[in-house]
Amino acid sequence: MSQRIQSIRGMHDVLPSENALWRTLERTAEAVFAAYGYEQIRLPIMERTALFERGVGEVTDIVEKELYTFEDRGGELMSLRPEGTAGAVRAGIQHGMLHNATQRLWYVGPMFRYERPQKGRQRQFHQFGIEAFGLTGPDVDVEQIAMSARLFKNLGITGLRLEINTLGTPEERATYRDALHAYFSAHFDQLDADSQHRLDRNPLRILDSKNPDMRELIAAAPSLTDYLGAESAAHFKGLCEGIEALGIDYTINPRLVRGLDYYTRTVFEWLTDDLGAQNAVCSGGRFDGLVAELGGSATPATGFAMGVERVAALMEAQGVALDDMAPHAYLVHTGDQASAKVPAMAESLRDALPGLRLRVHAGGGSFKSQFKKADRSGARLALVFGDDEAADDTLQIKPLTDDRDQERVSLAAAPERIAALLGDALNHR
Ligand code: ATP
Ligand code: MG
Repeated sequence: MSQRIQSIRGMHDVLPSENALWRTLERTAEAVFAAYGYEQIRLPIMERTALFERGVGEVTDIVEKELYTFEDRGGELMSLRPEGTAGAVRAGIQHGMLHNATQRLWYVGPMFRYERPQKGRQRQFHQFGIEAFGLTGPDVDVEQIAMSARLFKNLGITGLRLEINTLGTPEERATYRDALHAYFSAHFDQLDADSQHRLDRNPLRILDSKNPDMRELIAAAPSLTDYLGAESAAHFKGLCEGIEALGIDYTINPRLVRGLDYYTRTVFEWLTDDLGAQNAVCSGGRFDGLVAELGGSATPATGFAMGVERVAALMEAQGVALDDMAPHAYLVHTGDQASAKVPAMAESLRDALPGLRLRVHAGGGSFKSQFKKADRSGARLALVFGDDEAADDTLQIKPLTDDRDQERVSLAAAPERIAALLGDALNHR
């Protein structure tokens, strides 16, 4: 036997057994995005590396350490996308969608980061993301937080915490950055190696450190709130009041930062205590400088990205109700005459009942072994078709999930009877 090839470390198959979880999440998210008037955009999985260097930032972990980059056969440097915003902005500029126009977009798909794989952290993972362009906020920032809250609510997820902060403008941040630089320089020997490396390039990112030994030092660092100008302060006040008016709980976390210049004002993150160390399920904020950074005319923008695997894990941990993806009915059949009629009969059932999920047994075997498969499939009904039934154009319907009696109906009457037995389950997903 030749050697088996395994999947790549950190890149997982999503198996049919996880389908109900993923489909419930996808369907709910799509409905929520539509409920706020957002339109889907589908973007390539690969872009020029330069897009991410400029769009995500050269001094981020994502670009410094995590990009999957290679030369294509024409010698151009390509990367698998590590996130969706850079591509969305690129597409918006390229198609002239952002010029004097507002756009509210959403996307979903796989993202790639060369990270250390662990629970809740893959190398291929998926994100839902939304972006609004051309709107300065804070009303749209509030709306996006409300969207994320509604998505969690509609999924039935509870116990998430919302943290928010403001990053001010690049100018305000520059002043703050100097103050931070002075503070951390004065405590240089208490910084870990990573933070020492960040000190001159991007001291704000030291605030983002997950090293517990640095927690105290970071807690005592100067706060950006003290460096805000009047407009940024008013924007942040509007954000807080808007969220409060909707009854959404939040805390202000002055240490919640993004290191890059094109981030402005609003940042937020949804956190959970149910997933261990990988506790962020959604993060978002305003990036008014990015469109110009990528060559478009200055356009305000704001958005969020949500980790599909982490939200799915949370749904599983909390046992939220999932869509039923099992077949409604499993058709068992024996006898040459009967089996010859099965394909056409199954098609006419599907014609008559468009929502019906009907799995037709294949591969022969006794009624007994076929019934075992029917049970295992999760179907509510077994449809039984043998030579007796074939001879008089009937079908036996046997409920599998309750103890109602098996009944024999004419083929003509079967769709109506099946629909009645399935009830809501036929139309519900
Ligand atoms: P973390 O701090 O956990 O690394 P991040 O700040 O890198 O997250 P973002 O780039 O803001 O994350 O992405 C938004 C969301 O995508 C995160 O909140 C998380 O739910 C999810 N996510 C990010 N990286 C991964 C990954 N490697 N595996 C699974 N989900 C991820
Ligand atoms: Mg990360």
